[in-house]
Amino acid sequence: MIRAVLLALLAAAVAVPVGHFVAHWAGWSTFCLGLALQMIFHFRNFARLDRWSRQPLVDASLEGEGEWDNIFGRLYRHEKDLRDQIARRDQEIAMLIAAGQALTDGVVLLDTQNHIMFCNTTAETQLGLKVATDRGQSIVNLVRQPEFVAYLEAGDFSRPLTLRPERYKDRVYAIHVIPYAGNRRLMQIKDVTQADRLDQTRRDFVANVSHELRTPLTVLAGFLETMQEIDLDDDERRRYLGMMADQSRRMQSIVQDLLTLSSIESAPPPDNDVVDMASLIDKLRRDAEALSGGRHNIVVESDGRGDLRGSEPELISALANLVTNAVRYTPAGGKITLHWQTSPQGAEFAVQDTGPGIDPKHIPRLTERFYRVDRGRSRDSGGTGLGLAIVKHSLNRHQAQLDIKSELGVGSRFAARFPASRVANG
Ligand code: ADP
Repeated sequence: MIRAVLLALLAAAVAVPVGHFVAHWAGWSTFCLGLALQMIFHFRNFARLDRWSRQPLVDASLEGEGEWDNIFGRLYRHEKDLRDQIARRDQEIAMLIAAGQALTDGVVLLDTQNHIMFCNTTAETQLGLKVATDRGQSIVNLVRQPEFVAYLEAGDFSRPLTLRPERYKDRVYAIHVIPYAGNRRLMQIKDVTQADRLDQTRRDFVANVSHELRTPLTVLAGFLETMQEIDLDDDERRRYLGMMADQSRRMQSIVQDLLTLSSIESAPPPDNDVVDMASLIDKLRRDAEALSGGRHNIVVESDGRGDLRGSEPELISALANLVTNAVRYTPAGGKITLHWQTSPQGAEFAVQDTGPGIDPKHIPRLTERFYRVDRGRSRDSGGTGLGLAIVKHSLNRHQAQLDIKSELGVGSRFAARFPASRVANG
């Protein structure tokens, strides 16, 4: 500014002597020429500023002349600071979005009208949304399940909504809506399928246990009532007491198996004791013969090598269950073979029988608690429906697999396969 005034004064200082010594018009012309030069100088810088402001680039250095260079410098720094700030904000927003995307829960941000502002990929999959096309759309137009729409419209978010989505029938979601920033809503979608299944399993289990115990209890109560009300002769009395003893033994077996199952479930990892397989198989054979009472041909086929590492009581319980089942389900005259074989891959203990066999459709469910192919036959042979569940648990704890092969009318083969890490002296 001062520079502009000084230049005007300089023009005047040159113009005055010219006007005095040459001619008036020459003085004025000199003065006007000075001012015009200054104006040209300023217009050039104005034009430069005009061009730059239309497309302010911070990488091309903006240079002006004279005082203009300072103004351009300040503008340039201001623009650069602004851009740095925006870049930092963009980076922070990108980090927040990345964090939202990384969440294993679905997240949807809604505005006050339930329009989608953001949703992460988990929510896209869960609700069948596409953020690229659905942003700005009302979520109730896209997720039309009546219970979801009613929940959002009721506006009471004190409890989450449990939703079984129409697109994934086997999934269960817990949807929490958290109001934020006034009337905006953050929707968090948790996949609770696993917890729901566990809950269902627990409910089924309690129902099954009650049912299993109720039957013998009802029978027992009925006999007691009869004995209280009717005078029975000695024979009848003995017969009734015998049947009552059967029912209480049945309840005892169920409770015993339940206790075994729960102790296996809550026990720490099994020991690493070396279990002598030759004597274990010998014991299993003797127990099987005792249970069979000579009705079956019981054979051992063993390569005689290798022992197992693990908890002896658990391994005995698992393998004895397989042998006991073979004896209980194989009709008299049948053959039961106990196999033991080791290889570099591990070891296998298998029980093969010539019993009734099992329809393939039942095989995947045999290790479920209380699952029986033929309830009556299982009960008559003293089964609780928990044997194979105990086997599966004990084997899992020893990293072993239960493999079941069976053919109706031919027989069954139940094999416990142990990894090499569980084999000792192999
Ligand atoms: P249970 O106490 O009823 O025997 P398990 O869990 O031991 O219960 O076995 C589940 C079901 O598997 C049995 O009810 C039976 O139907 C079937 N099963 C098990 N072992 C055999 C076998 N060796 N031959 C035929 N069916 C078997």
